[in-house]
This record gives sequence, C-alpha cells and structure tokens, in this order.
Amino acid sequence: MRIVVAQMSHETNTFSPVVTDLARFSGGRERPLEGEAAVRTFRGTASCLGGFLKVCEEAGAEVVLPVAAGAPPSGPVEDGAFEHIADRIVAAARAGCDAMMLDLHGAMVTRSYEDGEGELLRRVRSAAPGMPIAVALDMHANLFDSMVQNATVVTGYHTYPHVDMDSTAERAGRLLLRAVRGEIDPVIAWGNAPMLPHVMRQGTDDSPNRELQARAREMERDGALAASLFTGFPHADIPNAGLSAVAVADGDRGRAEAWRDELLARAWQARESFVYRTEPLEQSVARAKELGARNPGKPVILLDHYDNTASGGTMDTTEVLAEILRQGLEDVAAFGIFDPEAVERMAVVGAGSEVTVSLGGKMPMPALREQSRPVEVTGRVKRIADGRFPATVAMSRGLTMNMGTTAVLSTGPVDIVVISRHVEPFDPGCFTSVGIDPTRRRFLMLKSRVHYRVGFRGMASEVVECAGRGVCTSDYSELAFRRVRRPIYPLDPM
Ligand SMILES: [Zn+2]
Repeated sequence: MRIVVAQMSHETNTFSPVVTDLARFSGGRERPLEGEAAVRTFRGTASCLGGFLKVCEEAGAEVVLPVAAGAPPSGPVEDGAFEHIADRIVAAARAGCDAMMLDLHGAMVTRSYEDGEGELLRRVRSAAPGMPIAVALDMHANLFDSMVQNATVVTGYHTYPHVDMDSTAERAGRLLLRAVRGEIDPVIAWGNAPMLPHVMRQGTDDSPNRELQARAREMERDGALAASLFTGFPHADIPNAGLSAVAVADGDRGRAEAWRDELLARAWQARESFVYRTEPLEQSVARAKELGARNPGKPVILLDHYDNTASGGTMDTTEVLAEILRQGLEDVAAFGIFDPEAVERMAVVGAGSEVTVSLGGKMPMPALREQSRPVEVTGRVKRIADGRFPATVAMSRGLTMNMGTTAVLSTGPVDIVVISRHVEPFDPGCFTSVGIDPTRRRFLMLKSRVHYRVGFRGMASEVVECAGRGVCTSDYSELAFRRVRRPIYPLDPM
C-alpha cells in the first residue's frame, strides 16, 4: 500500500502584521522539508506527522512525504507559499497512491482563500476522486464545509495545551486504514455554534472544556469512530470562525448527527464560561509582586498573553515588561522579546559588555488602536547563543526548537531573553539553553496563553494573567470584525 503523508499547518490571525511567507514554513531552511529528510525529522516525535508515520510503518505501507510545512501562527499566508505547498501535495495525489493522511491546522487563511485547508482538499479531491483522505486538525480549527466534505475521516485534538497531537493523527490514520480495507464505512456530520470561545478560557485543565472534551472521548468509547469539539480560533475575521463539532460514525448518519448535536448543545450551554475578563495591567503586576514576596522558592508567572506568538502575536510588545521594570520586581526572567536588530547589536558588542538598546515595539499593528512602544533598556549582555534546543515536553518532544540568534540582556533585577525567531515559551529549554534556570527565579514573564502550562505550570506557585498589548488582545472591541457571521456570542448579546 502506498500512502501520501503531508503537512500544511498554519493558524492564521487575520489581525497579525507578521508576514507568512514560504520562509516561515521552512524552519530556518531554504524550503520546507520533503521526502526522506522529513521522515527522518518527524519519525518518533510527539507530532501529527510522527503519529501518521507510526501508523504507516506498523501497516508496512510505503510512505510518500511530498512536504512537511508548518509555520508559527501569524498573518494571512502569502499566495506563493500556499501554492508551493498545495502543488506538492496535489502532485503526489495525482502521481497515484492508495490513501492520504494530512496534518492540517484547520484555521489557515491565505491572501486568496478564507478556508485554506478547504481549498487544498478541493484540489486533492479533484486530482484523485474517490481516494480516502484522513485529516488531523488542531482544536483551534475554524471549520468550513469543504474541509469536511472532501475528507473521509476527520479527527481533532482533545487537549489544550496540545499534548495529544500524535495520538490524534494515529486515530485518523488507523480509521483510514480500516476504511481502505473495507472494515468500516465512515459517515461524517459537522456543524458550528454561533460563539467565539475565548482562547484563555479554552484550556482542558479547566471547566468547561475539560468536561466537553471528556464527553467527546466518551463518545469515541461508545461507538463513535471519532468525535471532536473544536473550540476554534477567534482572532480570524472570517465567516466560520468559532466553535464547531465533527462526529464520524460507522455507516449511521443519524448517530453521527446526534453526537454532533449533543457536543454543540453542551458547548452552547457553557458559553458564558468561555468569556474572559481582564484586570488592569498595573494591578496585575502589583498583585504578582505581592505574591512573589509571599511565595519564595517557587516562581510566580506573569503571563503576557496579549502577545502570544502561538496565536499570531508579534512577540515584540513591551507593556508588561515595562510595567515589571517600573514596579521594580526583582529576580525576573522574561521570555521573550522578538527583536533581531537588538540581538545583532548585542552580538556585535559581545557577552559581558554594557549596552543601551531600544527593545521591541518596532512592528506596526494596524489592526490595533494603540501601538506598542519600544522600551529603552540599559544592561549587560549576559549571553549570546545560537538559539537551538531540543524540545523535551509532550508538544514537540523529539524536535529541535529554533529561536534564531538569541541574547540575554540583564538589567540586574531582570534578565530578558531577546530572540530572532518566534517561539512560544512552552518548553523550559527556552531558558535553560541560554543559562537561566527558571525554577530558581522569583518571577517568570512568559508571552503565552495556555501552552506554557506544559513546561512551566508545575514549577510555579502562582500565575498572574497580565493584559498587555498585542494582536491577541482580549478586548474584542479593539478589533474590527467585518467578516465573521453575526450574530455571534459574545460580540452580540444572545
Ligand atoms: Zn491550537
């Protein structure tokens, strides 16, 4: 059996000014990985591709891997990048294979298509009508009809932080093989609810998503081939942003629809619990300072969640860092500020030197009323590093993280990690690889929303959520929603 395994993965924040070109999909290489090099990179890793490869190898299938293209979340995908990736996948379908397994995000918007994945699947379907296709999607997928209608099976993550990427792909892959062998007859039902759950309220350690995902897993034990509740990605101004559900049944449309309807109804009932409320920044930082004085020995995390790069943030906003400096918190490690210019300057003066740099606040954010400003920092360059480290936590275990050239700038009380490539801090390696032991700090500032929990929640005494600035703003009134279907909760009273 010959199986095409491929990845085209991007979560698009349509309000983000960060450009999504082919280089962003290439992980620091010239082009996205292909073929044997991609297989070697992803085999055995805690990723969707790792899961698909495992299923194929267990089945003794021949694997064709035309492209492995995953980019960190950012603005709409440039047409050239989309065409490059889609062409390779469609060509592999046309060349002939028995089935296809796709690692897609589900919230990709390109310059030309609001449903990037739907467009890809339409093209694959017309190149190879009748070919079975398995799709594994992120929990933040914003589903469109074409994404479901052109797939044979669809599965979604049950966890956020996403620690079940590999098993989500394995589930899709195994179902696909059973369908190819004629053992099952997958029937899919999907639908959405008019709601935009807030990302800060979507974690599966917390109610209501913990219970919703548990119910989906229970359906899978009770006969559903797959049951997935997608909380969706609200920072995308497209008609189908928001919550949706997909159920796959064996030959029984009525059961698939009943499972789908139940998931949507339960989520709708819980809609108020998905609303997030903010606190003024000055108050949050003061509260963190107090908590830090009371809890020596375990760090207090200050979460700079308006600027989470894994939701499309520029990672160069400075409001939370500036407030930490202003209120005089001590023994702080901050990750991180994206500022390649500042890194270059610090690399030139070298480790051990004193410098004054204008940090961050450089990327204009036309979607926001108020822009972030650079913060002037005087300190000592503690370290210059190549910024690579092996991921050790479930989300990317086995893969190499690449922060680009990285500098640690120390004011004394505050160590700031300044990076040249966007990486969300979910793995402690982002600190330890540059000589900072996060467990020994009184405070950690992290530009993250929920994924930090994988690597940092366990070491912290408290977490204080700080409303900074950025395109992941929790103040929806700041964003001009024009395309999303209305009415939708909580933008409209319902
Ligand atoms: Zn996600």
